[in-house]
Order: sequence, then structure tokens, then C-alpha cells
Amino acid sequence: MVKKPETERLIEGELQSEDKLLDKQLRPRTLKEYVGQQQVKGNLNIFLQAARQRGEPIEHVLLYGPPGLGKTTLAHIIANEVGANIRVTSGPAIERAGDLAAILTNLEAGDILFIDEIHRLNKVIEEVLYPAMEDFALDLVIGKGPSARTVRLDLPRFTLIGATTRYHLLSGPLRNRFGVTYRLNFYEPKEMMEIISRSSKLLGFPLEPAAAEVVATRSRATPRVANRLLKRVRDFVQVKGAPQATLALATQALDQLQVDPLGLDDLDRQILRVIIEKFKGGPVGVNSVAAALQEEAATIEEIYEPFLMQLGFLQRTPRGRVVTEAAYEHIGIVPPPAGQAKFV
Ligand code: ADP
Repeated sequence: MVKKPETERLIEGELQSEDKLLDKQLRPRTLKEYVGQQQVKGNLNIFLQAARQRGEPIEHVLLYGPPGLGKTTLAHIIANEVGANIRVTSGPAIERAGDLAAILTNLEAGDILFIDEIHRLNKVIEEVLYPAMEDFALDLVIGKGPSARTVRLDLPRFTLIGATTRYHLLSGPLRNRFGVTYRLNFYEPKEMMEIISRSSKLLGFPLEPAAAEVVATRSRATPRVANRLLKRVRDFVQVKGAPQATLALATQALDQLQVDPLGLDDLDRQILRVIIEKFKGGPVGVNSVAAALQEEAATIEEIYEPFLMQLGFLQRTPRGRVVTEAAYEHIGIVPPPAGQAKFV
């Protein structure tokens, strides 16, 4: 299970308490407004159109990718595009099979059920989901012991949209029951600029292009982080009494928040430093890194590593994590001479 850090970190893609209001204001509502992810949007468009032409509800959809890239947003957009009601829940919120049965029996035909963090459903509950997804049926066990019997209840034809940051934790049978699977990727710099410009308009907060660029480059290619940093820059500019966010002000605000020019925060740098200094650059298992930092391995794996890998600072190898020469340079440590480096 992922432990929430004691203090909420600014650059994290995970949903934090302050995001809820911001989400309401900034979340795109249509596929047209949804920036980037061209391939997913293209495929999704065809998928939605085909279902519309057939007059059928859409098949189950699985969305995966690091936190903050737009999975929840996309689930709402899909519901909006097909004109369906959406019911939202999450893996950890469904504690017993009865909880899921109650949700399923309350659905109406054509409804969309969104289960966030679907990898955190326990196995017993997952098994309730199989016949529900496949046959739109719920198998209820009535009674106990030798007189127990199973009664099959019909469910309305619904669509499940599952979201996960950890695709590999999903069991094969669950994965196979989704009609389509889309993977969301980190955003390109140009797309990040577009998201920031859209958000700054919605917030009524003008930014100099160079200031928008500095926010974009420090946002870990993640829209949620961009929106959060934008809000912090807005506070800073307001307190300074400036009419507009200039490059100097935005840079000052972000430096003060200890978000470095690539968007790394203290823990990112510590992860790299620990691997370099304590484990000679790796390979090292994530559990050893986590123990050295007194962090949860899942937090490091789920939240920190994807972006460090995206930057080319870290590699996951069969023997463990290895930092690259670029990471040494960023941290300001001289890499070991060629030949001694442990890149595998
Ligand atoms: P996830 O479910 O993957 O953690 P969300 O869907 O909650 O991420 O996205 C976080 C926020 O980022 C949203 O509220 C939205 O404002 C913004 N966002 C995400 N994807 C996009 C996008 N493609 N275009 C514009 N804004 C986006």
C-alpha cells in the first residue's frame, strides 16, 4: 500500500487536498479540450464513434499511467461524450464484496462505473467483478455451510472504466476483461505550455510566455503538477503586488519552493544521491533505497521513479536500479571513470 507522505509534496502527481477545488475549475470536459495524448484520443474517438453507430454501450476501458496525467479526467470526458452518468469510486474504498454488490446493483443501463486505483481491489472483490464485467451478472451466495447456494442476479449493461498507476499489479483475468486499454504518457513540452496557457486563462492569471515556459519545464511533464505550480506562482505574484508573472518572478517563486530547473524536488535528488553514494550508482533493489531513505518502496516506485526514468536519470534493470551519467551531472557528482561505471 502506498503511504501518504507526511507533508504533501508539491511536485507529486498524486491527488492532494488542495487540488480538489482546482480540479473543478481546470478539468477539461470534452475530448477537444483535452490537450495532448494524440494517439489515445485518436483511438478513443474511433472507439466511441463505432459504439455510437452501433447504438451500443461502450466496452470496458482500462486507463493506466503515472499519477496526474489525466486518467480521471479522461473517464469523465468519456462519460460526457457518450452522455452517460458516471459513478466514481476507488479500489481502497471498496472494502467488502457487499460494497461492490451495492454499487453494481444501483447502476442503471448505460451507466459508467469509474474505479480509480483498481489495482488496490482485493482478490475476493475482484472475483465479484469478473462475472459482472463479462456477463453483467452478480453471483450471490445465500446461506452458510452445506445449505449455501448461489443465486445469479442480472445487472444492467454498464461500462467499467478502471484507472491504475501500476498496470503490472493487475491480475491477468482482470486485464483481459477490458475491451480496450490505453496508456497515458508524460506530456511534451509544447503540450505542457498549452495546458499552462489554458489554465492561466481559466484562472484569470496572465503569464509572460517565458514565465509559462519555466513553469512548464519544472512540472515533471504532468498536468496536475503544472496546475499546482501555477497556483503557487499566482500566490507569489499577488503577494509581491506585481501585475503579471514575469520570468524573474516565476523563477523566484519556484526556486523558493525548492523545485529545481528540471522539476526535481528534494526527495528525487536524495534518491539519486543515495544510489550514488551508498550503492555506488547501483544496481540496487528499490527496497534497499527505500530503507536508506525511510520511505515506502511503493511511493518511490509509483511516484518518483517514472519521472526519473523519463529524464533518463534512472534505469530499472533486472538486477535493480542504476543511475546514469546524466544523473551524476545533475546532482553535481563526478561519475566513475568509463569502464567502471555500472551501466548494465
Ligand atoms: P489522474 O487521474 O491521472 O491522476 P487527473 O485526471 O486527475 O489525473 O488530472 C489532474 C489534473 O490535470 C486535472 O484536474 C486537469 O485539470 C489536468 N489535466 C489532466 N490531463 C489534462 C489534459 N490532457 N489537458 C488539460 N488538462 C489536463
